Amino acid sequence: IPESSNSLQDYVKDKLSGQMLELFEACQQQSSDLIRKEKCRTQLQKDIQRVYAVARLYLTGSSMNGLGCRSSDADMCLVIKGNKRPDPIQVLSVLQRLFRSLSYVERTHLIRAKVPILRFREKGSDLEFDLNVNNTVGIRNTFLLRSYAYADLRIRPMILVVKKWAKHNQINDASKGTLSSYTLVLMVLHYLQTLKEPVLPSLQRDYPESFNPFMDIDMVPEGPKYVPPYSSTNQSSLGDLLLGFLRYYATVFSWDKQVISVREAKTFPNNNSREWRNKFICVEEPFERNNVARAVHEKMKFEAIKAQFAESWRILRQRKDLNSILPVRAII
Ligand code: ATP
Ligand code: MG
Repeated sequence: IPESSNSLQDYVKDKLSGQMLELFEACQQQSSDLIRKEKCRTQLQKDIQRVYAVARLYLTGSSMNGLGCRSSDADMCLVIKGNKRPDPIQVLSVLQRLFRSLSYVERTHLIRAKVPILRFREKGSDLEFDLNVNNTVGIRNTFLLRSYAYADLRIRPMILVVKKWAKHNQINDASKGTLSSYTLVLMVLHYLQTLKEPVLPSLQRDYPESFNPFMDIDMVPEGPKYVPPYSSTNQSSLGDLLLGFLRYYATVFSWDKQVISVREAKTFPNNNSREWRNKFICVEEPFERNNVARAVHEKMKFEAIKAQFAESWRILRQRKDLNSILPVRAII
């Protein structure tokens, strides 16, 4: 271990940082949670292969990317390879019928969104699943996020607290026109990449082979194996990073002029092309030219999001106590 390597305690010398660490330790996904999800995945894949012999089921999202909470759902992607791309709605309808015959599945329903999903629960538990078909970009970005999550010790606590803060303040629900967790994560990574002393690099720029967008999907989970931790000169505490994050989106970031690119570790100007035209928030999907924040389409919701950043920054800078913006006890 190099002499300069830090432990998380080095970033937790003040009260606010200590509260963040405490919340993280209480809420982060446990290995028992992942084992339960993985067990369901294995059984489901087996049952699905009775209908789609060559299909493979992948766990994605926060269950796999290192940014999950105990209460996080299990996102999954069913990959059906072949020359003829199957219609996702049709596949999910078939699965819905199949799942109704499975003893360990309940409350199955189909959501006809842009990326259609089948939502269901493990019987008798609160474990919820969201399954899509062939939305493989979700597998690629899961392993990119996972590499960011482990690139620096501060990333996972920082992001978990931001997610809890956003959920508590009702700005973390894409189905209600606010921010998806995925968008929030990219916003945090962007902030950490663009500090004067960055806490994160662009991993796609520094390790292009590990995150090659054309890599065979079966290889994607192995891709980032050799990405080492990033050695940042930035020694800010967890609390200072949280304050800085709120300040950045309250006072520095230009929502109407800038597009967030984690892929390039910078913003680029909103040039009014199709993806960014008339959007309130522009956050680029790292593997596609797509706006992951397109769910924010009402002016009122957009204003509420901005107001939350401004208000939380104002409060937290006055009183550096996490409880002033997020009731920690109630959440743990
Ligand atoms: P939570 O712990 O709140 O469930 P999460 O990390 O699972 O958070 P979600 O917003 O539920 O985040 O998204 C789950 C996964 O789906 C993401 O990790 C990503 O792989 C994929 N995803 C979500 N939204 C998009 C999008 N707009 N474009 C591409 N992939 C997306
Ligand atoms: Mg999820």
